[in-house]
Amino acid sequence: MRIADCHITPVAVPDPPLLNAAGLHAPYALRLIIELVSDDGISGWGEIPGSKSTRAALAQAAERIIGIDPWQLNAIFARIDQLAQPDDRGATPWDNRAWVHVRSAVEVACYDLLGKATGRPVVDLLGGAVRDRVPFAAYLFYKQAGAGGEHGFEREPTATGWMAARAEAALDHAGIVAQAQAMCSHYGFRSIKLKGGVFPPDAEVASILALREAFGADVPLRLDPNAIWRVDTAISAGNKLSGVLEYYEDPVRGQANMAAVARALDIPLATNMCTTSFADLPGSIQQGSEAIILSDHHFWGGFRASLDLASICRVFGRGLSMHSNSHLGISLAAMVQLAAATPNDLYDCDTHYPWQDGHDLLVKPLQFENGSVALLHEPGLGIEVDRARLAQLHQHYLTCGLTERNDEIEMQKVEPGWSFQATRW
Ligand SMILES: [Mg+2]
Repeated sequence: MRIADCHITPVAVPDPPLLNAAGLHAPYALRLIIELVSDDGISGWGEIPGSKSTRAALAQAAERIIGIDPWQLNAIFARIDQLAQPDDRGATPWDNRAWVHVRSAVEVACYDLLGKATGRPVVDLLGGAVRDRVPFAAYLFYKQAGAGGEHGFEREPTATGWMAARAEAALDHAGIVAQAQAMCSHYGFRSIKLKGGVFPPDAEVASILALREAFGADVPLRLDPNAIWRVDTAISAGNKLSGVLEYYEDPVRGQANMAAVARALDIPLATNMCTTSFADLPGSIQQGSEAIILSDHHFWGGFRASLDLASICRVFGRGLSMHSNSHLGISLAAMVQLAAATPNDLYDCDTHYPWQDGHDLLVKPLQFENGSVALLHEPGLGIEVDRARLAQLHQHYLTCGLTERNDEIEMQKVEPGWSFQATRW
């Protein structure tokens, strides 16, 4: 079997106006869909965040892997590594590195291909399942009214339940509790994460305390200020949330600052911004900058790299959770296959999927039941891509005018003069 062809399709998915430390989500989230086609006509799929630089890197990589046997992942990565340039994740909440995304896209698509060729689910190619269901957490955002793009749900007056509720504004703790209730009641989530770094810290502490009051102590809570608090601010807010937070995600920027906050508090710290690569791990372990790493197969370079990370977390006694960006069902299916093959205890994984639900490109989108997604046992990722939906989402990309994620520019449309600050409070 050889890789005979590679198709890269940028897509734009309606995304609500969600607020974060870097500004405001644009009306569409950008993703890249990769399809590898084997010489015997099997397609393997992958999905990664979309940007011009990642698309260019993926196109370069695609040219170099045509003709290779998709089982030869080491040779494929060696070819990609010959092209790869140094990457910087940047200061924003999302990860700007192109080449880890490329490795992930290609590897996931190869695994989907190999699973289909052998009639086995990806989880079996990764060593087999340790769990049959993967639990996810509700992912709350402060937000403005609206459900994203001209194709979003505010244009569907028949929408009910969460599909209607997600177009509501949530700009204070009452709005956040209402959002949590609608999302948890629809999906059955049993853990809750709030994206912070938007309002002054006391307002975000108040939202967490309001969630605790509304949901009780049995629902674990997390707060993620995306690293824009000072050390003293993070310690002061953390002291008010002692015994309330399950974990405190990236309250400050950099391992030394995270370590200082970790020493001052009895809440475990977690990260997807501070320790984000294998090169960062020695510093994390030496300094004790966080207790929990949020893995992400898109950012760590694929399935095998994520399982390597899981091994290191086991060796050094670090917890493991899973990060997400706005995504579609190919990424969700990959997250579920990976989480099912990860032998660590896992915190409930992050997913943005409720914000994109209904816009998916799968023939049969994955379903959440009691907050978790069942592992698919069909070959590969277990999914079928709806090519008409893929074409439609690509059409959105062509017409929406966006080619890069820039939350600062979106925020300036609402609040002229607003600017991103790496440390704000
Ligand atoms: Mg985070």
